[in-house]
Amino acid sequence: MPETIGFFGVGKLMVGTTDRHVGGKQNPAPDWTRSFRFSDHSRLGRYLRGMSRKSEHVEDTEMGEGEMQGPVRVTVWNEFIHERAKPEVKAIYPDGIHGAIQTGLVDRLGERVVVTTATLDQPEHGLSETVVGSTDVLIWWGHAAHEEVSDEVVERIQNAVLGGMGLLVLHSGHESKIFRRLMGTTCMLRWRDDGEQERLWVVDPGHPILEGIDGEYFEIPQAEMYGEHFDIPSPDELILISWFEGGEVFRSGCTFRRGKGKIFYFRPGHETFPIYYQPEVQKIMANGVMWSSPSGGDYEGRGRQVATPLNSIRSFGDRS
Ligand code: ZN
Repeated sequence: MPETIGFFGVGKLMVGTTDRHVGGKQNPAPDWTRSFRFSDHSRLGRYLRGMSRKSEHVEDTEMGEGEMQGPVRVTVWNEFIHERAKPEVKAIYPDGIHGAIQTGLVDRLGERVVVTTATLDQPEHGLSETVVGSTDVLIWWGHAAHEEVSDEVVERIQNAVLGGMGLLVLHSGHESKIFRRLMGTTCMLRWRDDGEQERLWVVDPGHPILEGIDGEYFEIPQAEMYGEHFDIPSPDELILISWFEGGEVFRSGCTFRRGKGKIFYFRPGHETFPIYYQPEVQKIMANGVMWSSPSGGDYEGRGRQVATPLNSIRSFGDRS
């Protein structure tokens, strides 16, 4: 029934939209039971009456409860080791990889984001309860010191993701404690650091993270090779596949949902190549930030016994 599907789509759009970037107040949700006539026994009629009864639970505002109205608060985390230890890396990223990512995001997203940075050597790795609690999207770059990240901070991030914080894991972050924790697999792969060409094929052209990427692919002139098998659970969405000059392929753009949180793994970014200055890479990271920013309704993430049903259950009989 195409018209039913379309109708439900409209209802969902008008009642449930939480687009933080649309200015002004939304129109109040319409009273569908008055606007449309339907048979008392139709599936659509029952659905709409049910929706009308539930409407007291729908916030008639632009944002749902707990959603932000201001800019997306982004924290870029970097272990910040290679840039200080290796002059050739410092030459490419004088302000650190985190600094380059921060600048790229602000250039592309402007007032839609507030971007701060945090590094491994700071107290609690710069990721205190306060910082994580006020972060909407966390970006993670690490390589040499994954094991130095404290389990307490990893658990804090995991809980924040389950509660709705977005997480972008970049390149060698595949081996980070937090990514492995959230995936539940080794997250290991094949690699070769020969500075070969990489071609990233768009395999999900309609995906919001790829908005503005023209053409069927884009190329990175010199990259470290990552090859399959990449030991991750099957991603919810596979949006980019890389081909490398040496012949390997790799799932370079993968999305996952955990609890209420959205996770985007994005492969590019070896420290000895200026990949985070490349426009396509910056654009995809900016899109990834907006895509993974918190959305949706309430989330508890814990079980509870429901001893008293909302409605009487006939099959129980008379229990008085
Ligand atoms: Zn690398």
